[in-house]
Amino acid sequence: MTLPESILHEVFGYAQFRGPQAAIVDHVIAGGDALVLMPTGGGKSLCYQIPAIARQRAGQGVAIVVSPLIALMHDQVGALHEAGVEAAFLNSTLSGEEANAVEKRLLRGEVTLLYAAPERVTTPRFLAQLDALHERCQLSLFAIDEAHCVSQWGHDFRPEYRALTVLHERYAGVPRIALTATADALTRADIVERLQLEEARQFVSSFDRPNIRYTIVEKKDVTTQLLRFIEREHAGEAGVVYCQSRKRVEELAQTLSEAGVAALPYHAGLDAAVRQKHQDRFLREDGIVMVATIAFGMGIDKPDVRFVAHVDMPKNIEGYYQETGRAGRDGQPADAWMAYGLQDVVNQRRMIDESPAGEDFKQVMVGKLDALLALAEAIDCRRVRLLGYFGETYPHASPDAGPPQGGRGPLGGQRGHEVPSVGATCGNCDNCLTPPQVWDGTDAARKLLSTIYRVQQHSGISFGAGHIMDILRGKTTEKVTQFGHERLSTFGLGAEFSEQQLRGVLRQLIATGALAVNAQAFNTLQLTDGSRAVLKGELPVMLRESTAAPARTRTRRDK
Ligand code: ADP
Ligand code: ZN
Repeated sequence: MTLPESILHEVFGYAQFRGPQAAIVDHVIAGGDALVLMPTGGGKSLCYQIPAIARQRAGQGVAIVVSPLIALMHDQVGALHEAGVEAAFLNSTLSGEEANAVEKRLLRGEVTLLYAAPERVTTPRFLAQLDALHERCQLSLFAIDEAHCVSQWGHDFRPEYRALTVLHERYAGVPRIALTATADALTRADIVERLQLEEARQFVSSFDRPNIRYTIVEKKDVTTQLLRFIEREHAGEAGVVYCQSRKRVEELAQTLSEAGVAALPYHAGLDAAVRQKHQDRFLREDGIVMVATIAFGMGIDKPDVRFVAHVDMPKNIEGYYQETGRAGRDGQPADAWMAYGLQDVVNQRRMIDESPAGEDFKQVMVGKLDALLALAEAIDCRRVRLLGYFGETYPHASPDAGPPQGGRGPLGGQRGHEVPSVGATCGNCDNCLTPPQVWDGTDAARKLLSTIYRVQQHSGISFGAGHIMDILRGKTTEKVTQFGHERLSTFGLGAEFSEQQLRGVLRQLIATGALAVNAQAFNTLQLTDGSRAVLKGELPVMLRESTAAPARTRTRRDK
């Protein structure tokens, strides 16, 4: 039995390593740097805890674990103590006296793992202590948890993380292991660059959460839709409902409560004591539904959350993945349910446009939003798309692929015989379970785009969705007559389409980048480079049945 294995058994009581854990542990014990990408629940902690213990036993001193999550620090230190490991934490919850006591133990070499908040680690005072340890060769490793916090592209940017480069610069030679449960290619590259992990070996696990069923519905009356979903699928079960605004959180929690759901509100505007109380109830009682903004969830480990619902669309796929990932940590079936509509698209675009960020940043945000829209509009497997966004091909190539260990191992380490196929299905998302009926919206899309073009040519300005649809459907509104748009050749050319159908087409055109919404100019619609292919009829536009097709163009999706 190897040393890591014996630590795994004796200290943690586990029979074997999961997925890439063994390789990561070996690599770090040997003094290598590592970047670990593993989904929530995958078992990241052991990846630095075991090397810390092993290196400490070899006389190499203390491991410093940087973590932004105070609650998590407490839990982990408590669990390590129970397992007989000397662990401690330094964060703002300690009194000066308590902190001093920890520092004394640290300098005496009595601590195996020290958890510290990032802003703590980079203070001159703490660095001086690290210097002292380093001089005596008593720094065994640095673990940087939640490493995506270093990236401004991530959903949880923490500027303090930027200062962590000092660890590499000041203590070259001390191995570093950075870990995260969310990172698309861009964030990953940012972590490598910002933390100077160019030489680090990357360990990428599968991000698949096979027990989560993904469903995305078109938003109509979202409160009713949500209630029906909860009552039918999850009566009496614990869940989280994410909303965009605090006001919406309050209203929805109220409505759900009145309908007999044990719902509680949670957002950053609530009193700290109330927030704490609601969180405690959610964790301790059965069947509480937390209605929350994204302020809720990070570091909260409740295994039996049976559903996560989004009544408003998140900003991007990382956010969506992170939030839905809080469902079903126990491995039992769970639901990720989202309702979205044209208004969500417009709102998110507006938030990007109105943010004070620079143009480059906004471009990245728009790209990320578009990827989420494409996921929402997809008529094929959601899981394939979701994992594809994280650079993963589904189904997995490796024979030992599977939750939560995943099968990809270190980058480039794919084994096995299964060839990932295009048009793959997971059997556990709405589109796979009930392949949507689709209708061909190509004609409607071309007519919409050419109306937008003609209106622009005719009046020299752009208009919003409502007006464009009115023209196409041949409605002589005041605005139409005011601008003489009834004289356009496309006027009334799409009379057979309902407004709802056209909305669906517009949404998909926006989602695929064939049309842009200019939030700075009254949400007017503008053609893009991507419009051309649709206009020419080169790019078919297929729409879900839920956007109610005209009966004659209805077709069953070919599988
Ligand atoms: P993460 O930080 O990746 O979300 P954790 O490190 O908290 O995941 O681990 C998730 C759960 O899996 C924990 O309960 C942990 O004890 C358990 N676990 C981790 N590795 C193993 C293993 N090799 N065998 C059994 N259980 C494990
Ligand atoms: Zn699927």
